[in-house]
Amino acid sequence: MSAPTSEEIEAEVLDWFNGAWDPDLPLVEWRKLLLASGWAVPSWPTQWHGRGLPVWADKLAHDTIRGAGGVVTPLGGGMGLAAPTILEHGSDDVKQRLLAPTVTGELLWCQLFSEPGAGSDLAGLTTNAVRDGDDWIVNGQKVWNTSAHHADMGILVARTSWDVPKHAGITYFALPMHQEGVEVRPIEQMNYRASFNEVFLSDCRIPHANVIGEVNDGWRVARATLAHERSFATLRKSKMPTKPWGRTVTEANDEATDHLKTYVWYPQRAGRADLLMERARTAGVADDPVVRQEIMRAISFQRANEWTAARAKRARELGHPPGPEGSLGKLAASELARRCHRAHTTIAGSQGMLRSGDDPVHETVAEVLVSTPAQSIAGGTDEIQRNIIGDNILGLPREPAPDRGQPFREVARNT
Ligand SMILES: Cc1cc2nc3c(=O)[nH]c(=O)nc-3n(C[C@H](O)[C@H](O)[C@H](O)COP(=O)(O)OP(=O)(O)OC[C@H]3O[C@@H](n4cnc5c(N)ncnc54)[C@H](O)[C@@H]3O)c2cc1C
Repeated sequence: MSAPTSEEIEAEVLDWFNGAWDPDLPLVEWRKLLLASGWAVPSWPTQWHGRGLPVWADKLAHDTIRGAGGVVTPLGGGMGLAAPTILEHGSDDVKQRLLAPTVTGELLWCQLFSEPGAGSDLAGLTTNAVRDGDDWIVNGQKVWNTSAHHADMGILVARTSWDVPKHAGITYFALPMHQEGVEVRPIEQMNYRASFNEVFLSDCRIPHANVIGEVNDGWRVARATLAHERSFATLRKSKMPTKPWGRTVTEANDEATDHLKTYVWYPQRAGRADLLMERARTAGVADDPVVRQEIMRAISFQRANEWTAARAKRARELGHPPGPEGSLGKLAASELARRCHRAHTTIAGSQGMLRSGDDPVHETVAEVLVSTPAQSIAGGTDEIQRNIIGDNILGLPREPAPDRGQPFREVARNT
């Protein structure tokens, strides 16, 4: 039998939606109906709440439901990172327990990967997990964990063997956050936001049943999450719910507003190319040749980057695995942020250092100047993207790794 066309899928989704939609249902109850219909994530297999359709059907179903005034799956790392990783690598038991409440928004997730001594070299992590009967006991510290302050669960990588090379002794867990032994401390950033946290783990417990993948095979699972992280970054921007009419949409709006508070500075982090022309005109420097050059450099680079991103997005929708555009696009986004930063600074002059003022646009520009450095760090630094491009795309010799093959216990590291 041939795969259904997009017109057939759209018609079927609408038909289902019109029969099922009740605007006064509690949000979770609505999402349970959505889950049972298979339209929450139609690309997932039929035994796991989906319909086994191509990846592009997910966006089509969501657009159709939203277009008809409805509500789909929650924003955030649960659907963007945890769920696809669990689907690919989790046991049936884990899928059974954790997928549905993630789709309904009953479980909010954060990513507990980075550590004070392990960011770019994530496989050098030292958070330690030791088996104790049916549980694992975990000790260590994670850092830069976005949204950990309101997460119910964390996707966690921890060391479970010290006697094998570093990549071979890591296990991937689903950590229940609400327990004694998990302490979350927000970090105030230089733009005065506090979107990420330090997370201290002291004798906290994880049931063995919450291991994702095999014990000591967590690096493979973590790589799957990191691959999803690049496409997740673009999804985050696009999904404001529709205008409120009834309980379901109101609750979805509240949920999204709360979630997006964490990311309110992310447009500034990307450089705000959209404000450049207006700022130059308002400041009376639009005819300054230096300013014009800076704006042109930023905007033309932005356009070229949008085309690369559009190609990558289309490839994902067609079901192709993440390709080189991911690293190239990430690197280009950092460069764009720097070019915008430079152009905004040229326009604003020393006033760019002032945070207070009556002009909200000026406030936004001031925030751009202290937020753009994050663009070239989050989700893998520029230098690491260049290493990936060199190794995987250009086929250059791999970076020297003096610890390759060495048991992790013997690897020199900061203590
Ligand atoms: C906004 C934001 C949100 C984040 N959210 C999360 C989150 O939710 N969960 C989470 O776990 N982490 C999160 N992070 C952390 C992020 O993944 C790390 O900051 C990142 O991987 C870099 O690690 P690091 O900060 O330890 O820097 P380091 O790895 O210490 O790097 C320091 C410098 O050395 C360079 N360097 C390191 N290794 C090499 C190399 N081999 N070759 C060349 N140069 C190198 C780096 O490029 C960088 O310039 C977030 C970070 C930011 C900025």
